[in-house]
Amino acid sequence: MNLLGEELASIIAQEGPISVERYMSICLGHPTMGYYTAHDPFGSGGDFVTSPEISQMFGELVGLWAAEAWTLCGGPQPSRLAELGPGRGLLMADALRALRVAKSFFSTLEVTMVETSRKLVAEQQARLIGVGRPVAWVDNIEKLPPAPAIVLANEFFDALPVRHYVKTDRGWCERQVGFVDGRFVFGAAPDPEPYLKADAPVGSIVEVCAMAQRMMTRLAVDVVTHGGALLVIDYGHTETVLGETLQAMRHHAFVDPLENPGEADLTAHVDFAALGRAARAAGARVHGPVTQGAFLNQIGIGRRAEALTRKATLAQQIEINASLKRLTSEAAPTDMGALFKVMAVTRRDVETLPGFLELENA
Ligand code: SAH
Repeated sequence: MNLLGEELASIIAQEGPISVERYMSICLGHPTMGYYTAHDPFGSGGDFVTSPEISQMFGELVGLWAAEAWTLCGGPQPSRLAELGPGRGLLMADALRALRVAKSFFSTLEVTMVETSRKLVAEQQARLIGVGRPVAWVDNIEKLPPAPAIVLANEFFDALPVRHYVKTDRGWCERQVGFVDGRFVFGAAPDPEPYLKADAPVGSIVEVCAMAQRMMTRLAVDVVTHGGALLVIDYGHTETVLGETLQAMRHHAFVDPLENPGEADLTAHVDFAALGRAARAAGARVHGPVTQGAFLNQIGIGRRAEALTRKATLAQQIEINASLKRLTSEAAPTDMGALFKVMAVTRRDVETLPGFLELENA
């Protein structure tokens, strides 16, 4: 058992089984032993690869999207860009490089990065030296400047802890993590949740990301109050469904989420329908969700890849085309182009945004 496992076992010994949400939150965010605090999760030597790591095209296109969205949101000055959970900072670095050509946006641009992991903040700072615009760091979305901004969130919401409820013969009970015979095990809280009434067979699980809902409400209220737009890119589903999607990934393979706590990346699929409901309830307009493949194709990833291949060696051309396919393919439901969805949130009067046009006109 690793040290974080021992700490979790001692919490459970003192307080009894803990919720899945608390387990996930400690595994990811423990101040010294949490996954994001103590590990380097990214890239081929890490545990998973995200879109900005696959190709520079991703961040460049998202950056140019931000400048267009800014204009469509009325182009208030100064222009602002924020990113939630920026990881190694690649997306922002690629975006800012591409944005140098968008002079009216870039020349007044102020950037805010929202990151909880000090280790990742240091890495982001090193990567963004010399980008030519001021960049500030905060550790909480509550500290975003109270001003219009284009806010980007790639693979951010999937990293937020989820709650599980399991249907028992007593009713729906919160799913918990206990410690039995030297192992972490799932169980159910003794008392049912009286307000959960859905009819489902015993053993069914419902997953709720209360933190994502809360953050979305806050971000949507910001958009309605100040203007700007929020762009969410993540893997997940467009309808709220029964079932759980909690998964643990280590060295690019799925592992048991209850083994070696803090050493694997714990995530859950994002419920875009629930996020959309939260944003609409806050008075905002929701664009999409569309698939990542459809979004990137519409904002011109094909043309960008072509332009890059013209100046590239044969080996580079092969790599560019492979990345293009990896980011956009929808051939199988698990391909990134299909599994990942893109959703934007604006004020109600912003009727269309690039990347969402077909769907909105349909
Ligand atoms: N967007 C990056 C990284 C995704 S991993 C990419 O696409 O490569 C998730 C990121 O969110 C990490 O940087 C993690 O440290 C950060 N994070 C997790 N919970 C957070 C929270 N509550 N507030 C801010 N950042 C958070």
